[in-house]
Amino acid sequence: MSYASEVYDRVVAKNPSEPEFHQAVKEVLNTLSVVIDAHEEEYREMALLERLTEPERIIAFRVPWVDDHGKVQVNKGYRVQFNSAIGPYKGGLRFHPSVNQGILKFLGFEQIFKNSLTGLPIGGGKGGSDFDPKGKSDNEVMHFCQSFMTELCKYIGADQDVPAGDIGVGGREIGYLYGQYKRIKGLYEGVLTGKGLTWGGSLIRTQATGYGLVYILDEMLKQNNNTLAGKNVCISGSGNVAIYACEKCQQLGAKVISLSDSNGYVYDAKGIQLDIVKDIKEVRRGRIKEYVKAVPTAEYTEGRGVWNIKCDIALPCATQNELQLEDAKALVANGCKVVAEGANMPTTIEATDYLQKNNVMFMPGKAANAGGVATSALEMAQNSQRLSWTAQEVDAKLKQIMIDIYAKTADAAKRYNMENNYVAGANIAGFEKVVDAMKAQGIV
Ligand code: NDP
Repeated sequence: MSYASEVYDRVVAKNPSEPEFHQAVKEVLNTLSVVIDAHEEEYREMALLERLTEPERIIAFRVPWVDDHGKVQVNKGYRVQFNSAIGPYKGGLRFHPSVNQGILKFLGFEQIFKNSLTGLPIGGGKGGSDFDPKGKSDNEVMHFCQSFMTELCKYIGADQDVPAGDIGVGGREIGYLYGQYKRIKGLYEGVLTGKGLTWGGSLIRTQATGYGLVYILDEMLKQNNNTLAGKNVCISGSGNVAIYACEKCQQLGAKVISLSDSNGYVYDAKGIQLDIVKDIKEVRRGRIKEYVKAVPTAEYTEGRGVWNIKCDIALPCATQNELQLEDAKALVANGCKVVAEGANMPTTIEATDYLQKNNVMFMPGKAANAGGVATSALEMAQNSQRLSWTAQEVDAKLKQIMIDIYAKTADAAKRYNMENNYVAGANIAGFEKVVDAMKAQGIV
């Protein structure tokens, strides 16, 4: 049995009931087999893969808070500090009822390779809670965030672990979390990213994941003698990543024809009007179906099905495993030629295989959505220098980072004779740097 298969079996046996974590490990180890086989003896001796798949630390804690009716609520909080070989732990906080330890381990594991790909000195981590901010008042969200940070603040710091936003955690939540950290620790430091512009935030951080996704998409198309201009693009989700992916696609001359949320999707053949979406989602915290009230020529459909829309390019930007085998088949049948992942692991392994076998250019989330964490690292750099860069400066750095990620990904795939297999390329390029650091730092 190969070393990679042994380690995968160990992961499954030691972490039962964590299917998303198994899936993320399987995908990485499968595509790394060429590298692992070439260094098997050395890696085995150092138990390198066993260490890589075991988080350095998992913190799990109780989050009690009082709702607007005076009732005590209890949620579960976590921080998974996965790997600090190349820098302090960095990765978002997710507040969503589906959150559990296995989902955060899959996200933290992916984050190791993504952060490495950015070229910046950041290790991998992830955290969150099963708290659902949807339908809660600002007051309730504040009380929850304060309780969550009262415990989390013992384990994080500007040079130790720097959380950011993710699903359910945007500027409002980061504000409440930061306020409580400062109050308890008495430190005004860059302990969180995604902060507001008047208190240490970076310009372009809000847009960074979506913009970065489209920058790498544009670069991939250019390197394959194609262009984004004039293409029809299907996007899922209507949160932070989806909105700014839509904005950048439109700026570069593409037409975005769909957005969705967990209730359903809208199809606008004339092209999504983003000012209306921003008002619904960012101002009123409403549902995507409200779009058709403002644009009666658009159509709203309840449920899944966004990938049945005919498009040239698909950008899944909602959540894990939202693009499944039947969706991949529908996309290919409708002539879709490119998929780039804005969300983390939105495409199942079977769907990814099907797309790649049918010559769909496929850019995985580890590379494609790394612009968010890269810009977070730029926010950390500005905080420690006590400086604020202009939007143009940050945007130019973000764009260059995405172009570099494309080059590293394509180059790694080529070196191992897997040209255009960007899944393998991203995993290999991310892995090489982390493994080099782990080897140098001894058995820790
Ligand atoms: P938001 O909370 O802003 O938006 C999430 C969107 O996805 C919403 O439209 C939400 O719909 C939808 N969604 C969430 N869960 C489901 C589900 N189970 N089924 C269908 N739709 C769902 O999150 P972000 O935009 O920040 O994150 C989206 C994805 O991008 C996640 O995978 C995240 O990990 C990833 N990502 C985010 C980064 C960032 O900087 N924000 C960086 C890198 C990756 P609804 O409102 O109905 O829940």
